[in-house]
Amino acid sequence: MFELPEELRLLKRAVREWSLKKFDPNLAIELDRREEFPFELWREANKLGFLNVRFPIKYGGQEMGLLADAIVTEELCRVDSTLGTAIVLGNFSSDCILLFGTEEQKEKYLSKVTSGEWISGGAYTEPAHGSDITSLDTKAVKEGSYWIINGSKTFITNAPIATFFVVLCQTDPESKHRGQTMFIVEREDPGVETTVMHGKLGIRCSLTGEVSFSDCKISEDRLLGKLNRGFYQFMEFLDKSRIQIAAQAVGIAQGAFDVAWKYANERTAFGQKLIDFQAISHKLAEMAIKIDAARLLTYRAAWYYDRGVVDPSLSSMAKAYAARVAVEATDYAIQILGGYGYFAEYKVERYHRDAKITDIYEGTTEINMNVLINFLPKSSVLRTFMLS
Ligand SMILES: Cc1cc2nc3c(=O)[nH]c(=O)nc-3n(C[C@H](O)[C@H](O)[C@H](O)COP(=O)(O)OP(=O)(O)OC[C@H]3O[C@@H](n4cnc5c(N)ncnc54)[C@H](O)[C@@H]3O)c2cc1C
Repeated sequence: MFELPEELRLLKRAVREWSLKKFDPNLAIELDRREEFPFELWREANKLGFLNVRFPIKYGGQEMGLLADAIVTEELCRVDSTLGTAIVLGNFSSDCILLFGTEEQKEKYLSKVTSGEWISGGAYTEPAHGSDITSLDTKAVKEGSYWIINGSKTFITNAPIATFFVVLCQTDPESKHRGQTMFIVEREDPGVETTVMHGKLGIRCSLTGEVSFSDCKISEDRLLGKLNRGFYQFMEFLDKSRIQIAAQAVGIAQGAFDVAWKYANERTAFGQKLIDFQAISHKLAEMAIKIDAARLLTYRAAWYYDRGVVDPSLSSMAKAYAARVAVEATDYAIQILGGYGYFAEYKVERYHRDAKITDIYEGTTEINMNVLINFLPKSSVLRTFMLS
């Protein structure tokens, strides 16, 4: 576990070499300013298979698992936090189809996602329900062999560009979270509208918006998974996707460290290199310790996931810690660069802005702390060290 297998080392190197070649920092600054999705890079990364390593070969993936996915995500976000984050989120929530879909649904949607033809989205959050989605205002009602959906979702990644969304709806209003169901809704379905929400702090190349449903009529074969099990399916999806967000955070933190390390070894002040000031070298040391700890937590969660151990406390621990490390490390990086760190050309101001989202989506850090504490006594992995 402390050394990556050869296959993953090669993958890491290939992704790194590609992104170093393709992620032009000026393009990133420009697209960040214009809030534009990097379609070309996303298409090429799909073609090379980088964004699909976790999907089964049968649906166009590489069947390499979640640890491989974490390594790809980390490298892409390390080389450029803005471009990397946007492209790895291009297939957001497709995993729900992989986890809960019928064979027909998997064939229809996953192969288009892995081939880079379709972008996906997951619509869970509502204007009045974010962390607490135990009851939802978006309702789906059965009419013959159709479902009619009404309601709206907010802060939805890829809302303006996704071909389809996994949507969580209340199907039995009396039963709160025990009465929720997932559906696959396509952009072209009647009654679907999307907007773009401008003015985000960071990840500005990943487009965010609202998705609303007005008497949206879909056939019953769009129900995803089991009727009234949507909330539980969503929690199961989060156990996986939180590991991916943790990997994003590790990559962003590592990318900021790379810039700060180089700068501290080159810049001089008072006749010596910055790194020779203990106040600076200790910041770098603290960053190194925390980034590596976050990486190990992330890899461990992914490694267990790949072996069938789906443990919410491992995912939440990795995500909560990595997010805080990303925010702190990018802040330190700006401090080490001084005034230059505050300007776009030196990248770390963008990394700092991009890091903050990892503290918020896929469950805020507070929510992930709650999950960790609730599941800690049940965790076969953590109990070995902590509660025995
Ligand atoms: C850029 C961006 C992209 C997003 N993408 C998506 C997406 O693709 N799909 C989607 O469905 N959602 C998405 N979200 C929504 C995101 O998941 C929510 O913003 C997040 O879950 C928090 O919900 P909220 O904003 O309603 O905050 P609230 O739930 O209102 O929380 C506000 C504060 O209260 C704290 N809090 C709430 N409950 C508790 C508690 N029990 N214990 C301790 N503290 C608590 C929170 O931690 C937070 O600090 C995205 C958000 C952003 C900003």
